[in-house]
Amino acid sequence: MSRFLKKQYQNLEPYTPGEQPKNQKLIKLNTNENPFGPSPRAAAVISSGEVSKLMLYPDPEASELTTAIAQYYNLEKEQVAVGNGSDEILAFSFMAYASEGSNIWFPDPSYGFYKVYADIYRSKAGPIPLTEDLRIDPKKYKNLNGTILIANPNAPTGIALNLNDIEDIIASNSSNLVIIDEAYIDFGAKSCVPFLQKYDNLLVIQTFSKSRSLAGARVGFAMGSKELISDLNRIKFSFNPYNLNRLSISAAAAAIRDEAYFQQTRQTIIKTRETFTKQLKELGFTVLPSSANFVFAKSSRLSGEEYFHGLRERNILVRYFGKEPISDYVRITIGREEDMEQLIFATKELLGKGN
Ligand code: PMP
Repeated sequence: MSRFLKKQYQNLEPYTPGEQPKNQKLIKLNTNENPFGPSPRAAAVISSGEVSKLMLYPDPEASELTTAIAQYYNLEKEQVAVGNGSDEILAFSFMAYASEGSNIWFPDPSYGFYKVYADIYRSKAGPIPLTEDLRIDPKKYKNLNGTILIANPNAPTGIALNLNDIEDIIASNSSNLVIIDEAYIDFGAKSCVPFLQKYDNLLVIQTFSKSRSLAGARVGFAMGSKELISDLNRIKFSFNPYNLNRLSISAAAAAIRDEAYFQQTRQTIIKTRETFTKQLKELGFTVLPSSANFVFAKSSRLSGEEYFHGLRERNILVRYFGKEPISDYVRITIGREEDMEQLIFATKELLGKGN
């Protein structure tokens, strides 16, 4: 830390991203990436010409992409804003609605970045503990005072809220903005995008990083009323108008138009998750009911830490958070079927079960 850093940042605890190992031999199941490549159409648009235009700035409005997203969700183009990953959209939302002493309520545990953004933007964070069985209790989110931010499905549990509960939260907070982070929505839960027709206090955030296999392209987006979207664009154009590069704009627009590939890959992941969950349960694990592309699981015989290290020694990388109330658990991304088979094999070894 230099002597020039402002005092307010000196105690900031940055987000710790999951490890991105250089060792290619590792089976990487730690950051909820999609094991399948992006849509071949996304690769094709990049190689067919977009690279040769890189001397030009990208369209600051990313119109090709906002139009494609709006079409997909039956919205108007002015109801969609894009960001450099949904992390940036979250950052814009904190800046716009929850900075400098305003209240923001979110579940705890949830996506770790919420707390970091609350710190950097000096929000008054109100973490709301999960129930003992690690669920969001919708009753605790009624009639609050301040912005509400909920990941649905929640991370790292993978447990989804049903739409009735979400609607009750939105309806009972008509003076508050309710932000639903749907990063994992395409793996089994129901999106609350249709509520945008009915409520002007709802902002839905999604990403191309998971179900669209484009984590490396960094594309996220928000959907909401034209007024909310214009707020986010006001922040974006005051911060970084060219937040999405040319390649990512084209790749994401092509990806969202490739419905067949999207359906095929997400269904495969869902199917693999169900088989894998069953296998883990047969080995005595508690596995939370996941609607995401990962499962959150604990063994009755190995501590979370032992399991994490045991897998790591066998070249399998999963995510271990090591804090209460989730220190017994590890989060395992759903990879290819063969990755999960290797993980089950390693787990049997660790449990001394052989084969
Ligand atoms: N929200 C949640 C709940 C997440 O788990 C993540 C990914 N770690 C993000 C948002 C951010 O994803 P990205 O910036 O890649 O869109």
